[in-house]
Amino acid sequence: MSLFALRKLWPLVRPHRGKVAIAGVTLLFSTAIGLAFPLVVRFMLDAAFVTGNLVNLNTIAVGLLVMFAVKGVLNFLEVYLLGATGEHVIARLRTGLFSRFLDLSPGFFTERTSGELTSRLTSDCSTLQAVLSSQMAELFRQILYLVGALTLLAALHPQLMLTTAAVAPLVVLIAIFFGRYLRRKSTEVQDRLADANAVAEEALGQIPIVQSFVREDWEADRYGARIEESLRAALSRAWARGLFFGVLAFVAFGGITAVLWQGGRLVLAGQITAGELVSFLLYAVQVAAAITALASLWGSYQQAQGAAIRVFDLMEEKPEIADPPEPVPVPTTAIPEIVFEDVWFRYGPEEPWALQDVSARLRPGEVVALVGPSGGGKSTVAALLLRFWDPTRGLISWSGRDIREVALADLRGAIGFVPQEPTLFSGTVFDNIAYGRPDASPEEIEEAARRAHAHEFIERLPNGYETLVGERGVRLSGGQRQRLAIARVVLKAPRILILDEATSSLDTESEQLVEEALGNLMEGRTTLIIAHRLRTVQRADRLLVLERGCVVEEGSHEELLLQDGLYSRLYRGQLILEPVV
Ligand code: ADP
Ligand code: MG
Repeated sequence: MSLFALRKLWPLVRPHRGKVAIAGVTLLFSTAIGLAFPLVVRFMLDAAFVTGNLVNLNTIAVGLLVMFAVKGVLNFLEVYLLGATGEHVIARLRTGLFSRFLDLSPGFFTERTSGELTSRLTSDCSTLQAVLSSQMAELFRQILYLVGALTLLAALHPQLMLTTAAVAPLVVLIAIFFGRYLRRKSTEVQDRLADANAVAEEALGQIPIVQSFVREDWEADRYGARIEESLRAALSRAWARGLFFGVLAFVAFGGITAVLWQGGRLVLAGQITAGELVSFLLYAVQVAAAITALASLWGSYQQAQGAAIRVFDLMEEKPEIADPPEPVPVPTTAIPEIVFEDVWFRYGPEEPWALQDVSARLRPGEVVALVGPSGGGKSTVAALLLRFWDPTRGLISWSGRDIREVALADLRGAIGFVPQEPTLFSGTVFDNIAYGRPDASPEEIEEAARRAHAHEFIERLPNGYETLVGERGVRLSGGQRQRLAIARVVLKAPRILILDEATSSLDTESEQLVEEALGNLMEGRTTLIIAHRLRTVQRADRLLVLERGCVVEEGSHEELLLQDGLYSRLYRGQLILEPVV
């Protein structure tokens, strides 16, 4: 683990260096005042006890008040300036990190849960914010106090230094030892809590399944067991914390007693004044406080290092699929021709081949259908054309250009994709249709909805196009969601169309309507259509049958039926299931 991961925050802090510099100066001055305090106390007490001078006492008291007023202003400036810096820096870090996530390829997201990524955005960023807003300043302040107080002690009270020197390391050792133990326990508590949260999220996310299988008690027990574990870790942490404070308090006050005793003897012997003794004590307390604070800051520092490493590892993550250094322009008018040439693909070096030597040509304006058993690789073909992944071997070209030479935004901008399981963003129906073209007019939106046969049901929603959908809005059926997803694509008017089981959640009647709409939409575009209901693909110009990643048959519906192969078996098998018999 690099000890200096935090330095990567510097480019973000740089624009605020003026504020940080001022905060640094205020910190220096307020610490200086803090360090001067015991000296002033000494004069004050000596004025009271030794010389008995009331005027002096009053002047010093007023002086002290003024000193603390100045220190108050300095503290305010420092806390505000650093706090503001921390907030700005972290806001930028969060938005930067989120944009980074959005650029990463789907492969990256299959390896991580979204919970993990959001916790980078929330808790890790908060940890770093604490460092910037307060802990860094605290670190410098305590170092200044430690050095300053020790120096003053050595200069003013060399005799009493020795006793302190004997007690202080003891305090440090205890703080470090317990600090480490407590941190380990804290991480354990956090981990156990994270486990419990995972259980809760899973169960709450699919409550209908839990309830329909009557597994409420089982889920409650599963959660309870995790909480029990976190409780056990938390209890031993509480125990250790209690012990820590008990021991530390005893050692610290024992030390103070020793110093008072020794100092009292020196006062009795007339070697020092009462004021000197008190000022010495105050310095000794400052030293001890600084050491304890530094020990606990060391733990925070390590936590912050961990957070910085996790955040910047993600920041520096390179998308596997990226724009070429010099993208070639794409033809702007012609209807695209898409060619798959000897494409092999697997999702990872250890995974089996998802596509094996797939070659296919989608001539301009052609409708090509992919059919075959599920798991055959149909969606994979669509994902490769969208460049969510790149082929392991072979290439895919768009009107003669390798799609890897084209800018991603151009490629994806030209493709309309209706995924297998469309989900909606929280927002209105209008926003959801306009997702690909936020500048579309209400007339255009309605036209798109009509063509996707979504207009009828949208009209019947409580607020029509302004109805909220998604997490906090009305729930739409699978078929309704699919029609909205189709309207979204109609509005985008892409040159290449990919429909992945786009009609699978529709009932027969709306399926016919939507198919009609899709039929219109396919005109003048190159279309790849995936369907498991074979009836829907009969009108395709050509069908490719994919089985276990291989193209096993190719031809029109009639040709394939004559071949009497997998397609005709699937087709007949499906016919038997239909009520025709
Ligand atoms: P289809 O759409 O024809 O049902 P897919 O293209 O979704 O089939 O899947 C083809 C194969 O690739 C399957 O064996 C599936 O398990 C695998 N697969 C699909 N997506 C992934 C992924 N993200 N990571 C690893 N394997 C995957
Ligand atoms: Mg699929």
